[in-house]
Amino acid sequence: MPEIISLGEALVEIMRHEVGVGFDRPDFFVGPFPSGAPAIFADCAARLGARVGFIGTVGNDDFGKVILDRLEKDGVDLRYCYIDSHLTTGVAFVAYFEDGSRKFIYHIGNAASGVIEEERIKEDYFEGASFLHINGSALSMNEAWRKAIYRAVSVARERGVKISLDPNLRPEILGVDKVRDICRPVVEAASFVFPSGEEAMMLTGKVTPDEACRFLVESGVEYVVLKRGDKGSTVYVKGRSFEVPAFKVDEVDPTGAGDCFDAAFLVGMLRGFDLEKCARFANAVGALAVTRKGPMEGAPFFEDAMSFMERS
Ligand code: ADP
Repeated sequence: MPEIISLGEALVEIMRHEVGVGFDRPDFFVGPFPSGAPAIFADCAARLGARVGFIGTVGNDDFGKVILDRLEKDGVDLRYCYIDSHLTTGVAFVAYFEDGSRKFIYHIGNAASGVIEEERIKEDYFEGASFLHINGSALSMNEAWRKAIYRAVSVARERGVKISLDPNLRPEILGVDKVRDICRPVVEAASFVFPSGEEAMMLTGKVTPDEACRFLVESGVEYVVLKRGDKGSTVYVKGRSFEVPAFKVDEVDPTGAGDCFDAAFLVGMLRGFDLEKCARFANAVGALAVTRKGPMEGAPFFEDAMSFMERS
């Protein structure tokens, strides 16, 4: 049985080969790369040595196979990952630009990735788990995913499984108020929240990331860990906060860094690291994640992450 459960969308990413080429003219793409924030999280946590279960849906096609093969190879438990024979696997097309911005074309919500039923959340599966990780991207997807996630949260809480939330909000699709509403039941149950500065402010309505993170801790979240890209992270717990500097790397592809960071922080907790070491380890894993092209390709194995952390 898993120590960590992640649920949500799995998809493949197909990206422009060259930086600075949008979607408005013919040019080369590379991929498919396995992706989807909850799947990236699951894969990285498994590479770091945790027993991880992933709940999601792929299509009965080669893209689905790319995802399943990768997760399986890294040891993710897929007994509740479903294959939908009517819909194709979710796809995200991504174009990167020189200023670091990205453009996306999604085929996710109406693909197999958007399919879930509450009944697929099996109570027994949560028995003995330590963490349930929720990603805001899955909450944003559709009503079926929200119902499944709220049920998973309630099943987890009844069994003492701690809830972790990466807000990963999509206000451009749903609007800020709706995003805040759909996150609320998870935030209220969460022991861990891993936001960016923008997300922390959006979630709380506060005007600085610092104020927002303090507010989340005062509201009962045990650990709020603010992710700050190449500046590292800041940990907030009751009564104190501290910054942990980033590791120096050459960034190739930022996608997935946050999910790998979340995975590493929770794996650090499972391994009994102290809070500072959890954050340092998460910074190291987040840094390694950006050094390879492809959302999951930079996710390191435990020994590699440890030696990078100790060497740097
Ligand atoms: P998200 O992917 O959720 O936007 P970030 O970009 O903040 O999250 O990345 C998550 C973490 O990964 C950061 O807090 C940091 O520890 C690490 N990280 C990300 N980008 C870099 C980078 N360019 N150099 C070093 N570390 C990075």
